[in-house]
Amino acid sequence: MEKLIIGSHVSYTSNEGLVGSVIESLKYGSNTFMFYTGAPQNTLRSSIDMELTNLAHKTMEEQGIDIKNVIVHAPYIINLANNKDKDKYDFSINFLKQELKRTQMLGVNKVVLHPGSHVGLGVDEGIDNIIYALNQVLDDEKGPIICLETMAGKGTEIGKTFEEIKQIIDGIKNKNRIMVCLDTCHIHDGGYDLNNFNKILEEFDEVIGLNKLGCIHINDSKNACAAHKDRHENIGLGEIGFDNLIKIIYHEKLKEVPKILETPYISEKEGGKDRTYPPYKQEIEMIKNKKFNTNLLEEIRTYYK
Ligand code: FE
Ligand code: FE
Ligand code: ZN
Repeated sequence: MEKLIIGSHVSYTSNEGLVGSVIESLKYGSNTFMFYTGAPQNTLRSSIDMELTNLAHKTMEEQGIDIKNVIVHAPYIINLANNKDKDKYDFSINFLKQELKRTQMLGVNKVVLHPGSHVGLGVDEGIDNIIYALNQVLDDEKGPIICLETMAGKGTEIGKTFEEIKQIIDGIKNKNRIMVCLDTCHIHDGGYDLNNFNKILEEFDEVIGLNKLGCIHINDSKNACAAHKDRHENIGLGEIGFDNLIKIIYHEKLKEVPKILETPYISEKEGGKDRTYPPYKQEIEMIKNKKFNTNLLEEIRTYYK
């Protein structure tokens, strides 16, 4: 059997805790998943229910989900690159510290983080701020790993090239706690041509090192290569295309790296109301079949009706 570690972004609610996330991912046929420990756009977080967490761990073991492949995504309002507003900068640092504690309590080992936007300070100063902040957060040799996500380069985002990511990693003291999350939509929008993925992977290996690749976000893109837009598209329906994504997903050198879908929900007007459906079950089926499903959106709508 071909080994494939695949899952999607799933929800996490304080009522159901990690159990809810596990159940949702199993519905999609996944063997891993990624979640925010609260709303991605805010920093309101509830305490962690250990009973639910233990039940989730038991269910994962029974269902073949290895927790070492499960990912937490830090909220995207954390910005470690800009320190103009000292209160906001300190808040970001402290919040991320708390987030790592929550992640550890949940038994998860990897947190994906957007490096941040420099908002006019310039790339080098932004990177210095990120390094300073991360060294505060990663002050112990032990604890969850932060995976810096490659970014599309929208606005003043840092992390749009492997060199920028490498510059951050170089400044981190506890290097065993820092890795990288490669997002296919982001690198495509950042200017890497995924028609030649082997070349990109070689470049990643030369600049950062393949052993530092901790997670891959699998998304198609609504925009052309180098557009710097960051708008995700469903698998096979965007500018990257199904065949290129399949080559990445099944790449020999990436077998051990968890792959997470963050593709958009399918929306539909029904009786004047907007409804949305998660695409992940059908997209994962299509990926397992290695054959593009031209009827993907219709099948998703039919399934949830
Ligand atoms: Fe992200
Ligand atoms: Fe992503
Ligand atoms: Zn994105």
